[in-house]
Amino acid sequence: MAADYDVVIVGGGMVGGCLALALSHSSLRVAIIESRPQASKPDGAAAQRAIALSWGSRCLLQQLDLWSSLLQSAVPIKHIHVSDKGHFGKTRLSAESQAVEALGYVVAAEKIEAAVDASLSRAGVDMFCPAELLAYQVESAKAVLTLRHNGQEQQLSCRLLVGADGATSTVREQGCFDLRQQSYQQQAITALLRVESEVRDVAYERFTAEGPIAMLPHFDDRYSVVWTMPSARAEQLLQLPEKDFIEILQQRFGQWLGGLSLLGSRQSFPLNLSYVANNIAARVVLIGNAAHQLHPVAGQGFNLGLRDAATLADVLLSTPGDIGSDEVLAVYAERRQLDQSLVIGFTDKLIKLFSSDNAAFSTLRNSGLLLMDKLPVLKNQFAQQTMGLAARLPRLRGES
Ligand SMILES: Cc1cc2nc3c(=O)[nH]c(=O)nc-3n(C[C@H](O)[C@H](O)[C@H](O)COP(=O)(O)OP(=O)(O)OC[C@H]3O[C@@H](n4cnc5c(N)ncnc54)[C@H](O)[C@@H]3O)c2cc1C
Repeated sequence: MAADYDVVIVGGGMVGGCLALALSHSSLRVAIIESRPQASKPDGAAAQRAIALSWGSRCLLQQLDLWSSLLQSAVPIKHIHVSDKGHFGKTRLSAESQAVEALGYVVAAEKIEAAVDASLSRAGVDMFCPAELLAYQVESAKAVLTLRHNGQEQQLSCRLLVGADGATSTVREQGCFDLRQQSYQQQAITALLRVESEVRDVAYERFTAEGPIAMLPHFDDRYSVVWTMPSARAEQLLQLPEKDFIEILQQRFGQWLGGLSLLGSRQSFPLNLSYVANNIAARVVLIGNAAHQLHPVAGQGFNLGLRDAATLADVLLSTPGDIGSDEVLAVYAERRQLDQSLVIGFTDKLIKLFSSDNAAFSTLRNSGLLLMDKLPVLKNQFAQQTMGLAARLPRLRGES
C-alpha cells in the first residue's frame, strides 16, 4: 500500500526545503522527494553563486531558525549604488536612510542549501532522497505519486502535492498549468572576483549598453559578479583568456572597486522569463522556480520563492478545511497574486529598459535614476521593493 502524507513536496532545494521546515512543527505529515543526493556537494555554479537576500528574507529565515547558522557567512549590504555607464544618472540607497541594519545580505547558495539540509534532518521530515518523481495522478481526495527511490518504483499518496522542483518542474509539466515563456536572448556570466578596494558593504548595479553588471560583496576581499549580455557576446567573452576578460569587465564596470582579478572559473546561464498563469490546480500547487523563473539581475528569484513557501505554510496552518481543497488553494493563490505579478513585471521592465542602447531608453533610464535620487518617495518605494518589504510577510514560528 502507498505511504500516505498530508503534504508531499517534490524538490528539496532552497524553496521546497524552507516550506518543509515551516510545516515541520505542525501535526501535518510531510515528505520531500529530492533527486540530488543529500550529502552531495553542490555543483561549481551553486558553490560560487552569491544570493542577495532581502531584509524581508532575513526575517523569514530567522523565523525558520536558519538565520543564526547563516549569520556568520552573511555579508551585510549597507549601500546599493545604481549607475548607468556613460551617463550622470545614479542613485544610492543606504541602510541608514531606511532605518534598518542592512538593506540585505549576501550568502553563498551553497551555505543556504547546507543550512536547510541540516535543519531538515533534525526536524524529522521524511526524506525520499535520492528519489525522482516519475508521474502523478490526481483523484478526488488525493494525489498519487510514482517515484523511483533506491532504484525501485514506489507509490506515495497525499492530500496536497507541492511542486518545488525548479525551472524544469516535472510537477508542472505533468499537470494542468499554463506556462508563459520568453527568452531574453541573453546570458549571464558569473564569476568570483578579488577586488583591490577596501569597500566591503556596497552592492553595485551598473547598467551598460550591452546589459547590466551586478557586483555583490561576498566574503573577505571577494565580490561576485553577474554580468548580463547578448548570448553571442557571452560566448565570445567566455572564450577569452582571463586577462582579456577582466580588462573588458573593468572597462565596463569602471573603478568603483579598484582593480579586479578573477578567482576560479566563469559560469554562464541562459536567461529566460518563465511563469505560470495559474500556480494552483486540483490538489497541486507550484512554488519557487517551478512557478516563476526570473532574470537574476534584480536578485529576486529566491526571495520571491521564499515568500511563496512562507505564505503557503501560513495558509495551510491557518485555513480550516482540507488542505488540498480548491478553497484552501484559492486562498494561497489570492495572497500571492500581487507580489508575484509585481516582482515579475518589475524585473522584466528593468531588463528591457536597462539592456537597451536605444537612445530614447537611455535618456529615460538616465533621467529616471536622476529623478529617483532626488525624490525620497520614489527612492523609498524602490528600497521597499529591493528589501522585499513591499509584500506582506507571513508570520511563522521560530527565532525572533
Ligand atoms: C546567476 C544567478 C544568480 C542568482 N542570484 C540570485 C540572488 O541574488 N537573489 C535571489 O533571490 N535569487 C537569485 N537567483 C535565483 C535563485 O537561485 C533561484 O530562484 C532559486 O535557487 C530557486 O530555488 P528553488 O528551490 O525554487 O529551485 P531549485 O534550486 O532549482 O531546486 C529544485 C530542486 O528540485 C529537485 N528536483 C527537480 N526535479 C525533480 C524531480 N523530478 N524529482 C525530485 N526532485 C527534483 C532538484 O534536484 C532541486 O534540488 C539567481 C539565479 C541565478 C541563475
